[in-house]
Amino acid sequence: MTSENRNGQVVVRLDGVRKEFGQSVALDDVSMEIREGEAVAVMGPSGCGKSTLLNMIAGLDRPTAGTISVHGDDLGALNETGLALFRRRRIGMVFQFFNLLDDLTALDNVALAGQLSGASARESRKRALELLGELGIADRKGNYPATLSGGQRQRVAVARALMNKPALLLADEPTGALDRESGGQVMELLLDLNRLGQTLLIVTHDPRLAQHCATRLVEFEDGRIARESILERVA
Ligand code: ADP
Ligand code: MG
Repeated sequence: MTSENRNGQVVVRLDGVRKEFGQSVALDDVSMEIREGEAVAVMGPSGCGKSTLLNMIAGLDRPTAGTISVHGDDLGALNETGLALFRRRRIGMVFQFFNLLDDLTALDNVALAGQLSGASARESRKRALELLGELGIADRKGNYPATLSGGQRQRVAVARALMNKPALLLADEPTGALDRESGGQVMELLLDLNRLGQTLLIVTHDPRLAQHCATRLVEFEDGRIARESILERVA
């Protein structure tokens, strides 16, 4: 399975990516590829550039030097509007603290992602409800985030990230704020999604998450790739 994945189409390519914040260098000459069907885990100490990497790939920020392309399209060639459209249509993102909108129900949090990328309210709610069903939380569709458990919130966030069938799902410490049981459920969910073909890039501090879900591990130190390894995922 792993070798097949390595032969898939390239989804993301980074070439010599550097990111500076003032005097500090967050990413230093990072080159890597992510292929269709892979689940890549990124690990490394706090401050080594993991979130910066995800933000660059998501088009939330631009590199100081180097190029990032998604399915061959150079993000550097997009203006701000183009980048915003790219983010909404091609990328799904999941964060440690969920980043749901407090005054929208679970259903509306998910449906909004569809509407923001141009789908009708009706279509968006229909797909949002299907996704909540697939993720096992359809019965929470009318709940506001404050009335959901951490694990349920993260599943709503995953549903939102999947709304537009993203080429790549980016997850930044998706289990970092969850207890062991909820974290385990989110891990299973990510594994299932990858088995169904979803390409994943997961930043985590949790070796269990990497071992369980990822097909490849990339370890960062001081803004650079220090080690890479293929993981044998236990079936
Ligand atoms: P990680 O996610 O691995 O903990 P980050 O990517 O958040 O690391 O940060 C990498 C480095 O870049 C750190 O030294 C951090 O302080 C710095 N950094 C990240 N974002 C910013 C920013 N918006 N402004 C200034 N410095 C930043
Ligand atoms: Mg981080």
